[in-house]
Amino acid sequence: MPFCPFCRAEYRDGVTHCADCYAELVDELPRDEPEPSPGPVKDVPVATFPSELEAEMWAGLLRRQGIPTVVISLGPGAGAWGNSVFVPQQLRVRECDVPRALDLLPRPSHIDRT
Ligand SMILES: [Zn+2]
Repeated sequence: MPFCPFCRAEYRDGVTHCADCYAELVDELPRDEPEPSPGPVKDVPVATFPSELEAEMWAGLLRRQGIPTVVISLGPGAGAWGNSVFVPQQLRVRECDVPRALDLLPRPSHIDRT
């Protein structure tokens, strides 16, 4: 039974590519590791938070949903004592996981919720 290595969707025999990620399907799922991966992975920014605490909170939520998430400090003060908490933090996920991540994250206010 083929699986998508990225979103772990299961497909019928004969299907070769994931309908969501366009990734080539594999026969077995890779082990569950927080940091993959075979092949180049493109990290895409999905959200920015004003503090590391908030960013880590949301990153943790995404990780619990099986979405590997990295938190990137946008400020110049990386490594500086005392102020990293107040530097804007960007959340990045694999391109494949962007739609799921956006579903889980708080929506930007300019997007209409209808
Ligand atoms: Zn997929």
